[in-house]
Amino acid sequence: MTAFPIFTQLLYVVAIGFFIMSLREMSEVRTSRLGNYFGVAGMVVAISATLIAYQIHRIDLLLVGVVIGVVIGSPIALKVPMTAVPQRTAMSHAFGSLAVALVGTAEFYQRAPNVDPYTVIVLSAEMILGYLTFVGSCIAFCKLQGILPGKPLIYPRRTMVSLSSLGIAIALGIYLALFPSQEFVLPVMAAFALLFGFLLVIAIGGADMPTVIAILNSYAGLSAAALGFVLDNRVLIVAGALDGSSGLVLGLIMSKAMNRSFMNVLFGGVGAKQIVSEKATENGRTVSGYTVEDVATILDNARSVVIVPGYGLAVAQAQHVVKELSDILQSKGIDVKYGIHPVAGRMPGHMNVLLAEAQVPYDQLWEMDKINSLFPETDVVIVVGANDVTNPAAHTRPDSPLFGMPILNVDKAKTVVFIKRSMAPGFSGVDNELFYLPNTMMVFGDAKRVLADMVAAMSK
Ligand code: NDP
Repeated sequence: MTAFPIFTQLLYVVAIGFFIMSLREMSEVRTSRLGNYFGVAGMVVAISATLIAYQIHRIDLLLVGVVIGVVIGSPIALKVPMTAVPQRTAMSHAFGSLAVALVGTAEFYQRAPNVDPYTVIVLSAEMILGYLTFVGSCIAFCKLQGILPGKPLIYPRRTMVSLSSLGIAIALGIYLALFPSQEFVLPVMAAFALLFGFLLVIAIGGADMPTVIAILNSYAGLSAAALGFVLDNRVLIVAGALDGSSGLVLGLIMSKAMNRSFMNVLFGGVGAKQIVSEKATENGRTVSGYTVEDVATILDNARSVVIVPGYGLAVAQAQHVVKELSDILQSKGIDVKYGIHPVAGRMPGHMNVLLAEAQVPYDQLWEMDKINSLFPETDVVIVVGANDVTNPAAHTRPDSPLFGMPILNVDKAKTVVFIKRSMAPGFSGVDNELFYLPNTMMVFGDAKRVLADMVAAMSK
């Protein structure tokens, strides 16, 4: 198999080094671009080493696969908007895990019935993880893309039902290890793994999909690592383990930022009901919209401004115009900071990526824990398309899916300007009490347009 074993192993070590550097650099906003380059370099070295080590009988088939991948992948990478990156990531996991599961299936049929129980156990674990990740990622994609409703499918004893399908898949894997000649068991095991992936993710609400994607990423990595053991391919073992552990850590960070446990995200069925505050609807209470000129007057008299971006900033692609506004404010001697909530937007680091694209200096980005203590001394907070991450229901409504999530305490500032198109709630479906407070100014409209008007008003 290995024409140049030592040379190949050395290249694998280099590739693994690149992967580790990639993760290290990606953990910080300012070095994340470099992290991406390290990742690409690692993949190029790993693939080249593998091509050298294995005797490729049909290079033409391989090239056809590469061409198909490039033709499909390039437009997706270039054209998919930032707002659709979570579902694009879900599809990447779906394809990756399907590939791993199919290679595992082919390996089994190639080796059976003369295959030892250890190998079958590892292969079964790999296939179960691969198949469940495939279907789970497809469901996550459909929920985020609006093809399937975002609401979790809630039915009695759903956790028991879905865990039973996983239990059956595992039992069949053990049976296959003991009786590898019973080859017909494999598709049945795969079917139960697919069923588990479907039942698991269909019962999770759309708002939790990004966290689910991180967890599925972890499963795909573990599946690849298991395949590495079967194929005796060390770079696959290490890359899979890195992928698996980083996905798990990311999932934990996201759960922690929402003050939720993993179990609650996976089996809590959060998002099944809409929570609308009684106060919000009582006696047809109304909210007055303010004009851009009203806000410009307030800003002219401010000394400190905190901008809080959210998902709507990404939808409106307002990152460049928000930077323009902050430049104008700074030119007038006003201190400007950005308050960044860890789960603002629809994926981790969403706001950081957008603001970095607009060249907002990193030292203006303040994390939630640090900025929260500054709100009481802040003159104006401008909330641009954020909602849930500011919602006090997280503190006050135990029946709300947001309850317990740390939020940006923007209501402590002297004035809060909310820029959004309507009174619609955020992704969690929970009404926001802040809209009705006396120190809140609602400015209705698309964030990019409103901010452009504000820039014009402030430049007069
Ligand atoms: P939200 O989804 O709470 O609110 C976004 C707001 O943006 C909406 O209320 C919407 O109101 C407004 N909006 C949409 N389009 C525009 C536009 N073009 N111009 C102006 N406003 C617009 O976003 P947040 O960022 O505050 O919160 C993120 C949510 O996603 C949280 O619930 C979080 O838990 C969840 N989540 C995030 C993850 C992550 O990794 N970032 C992971 C998992 C979950 P309107 O329609 O009226 O304009």
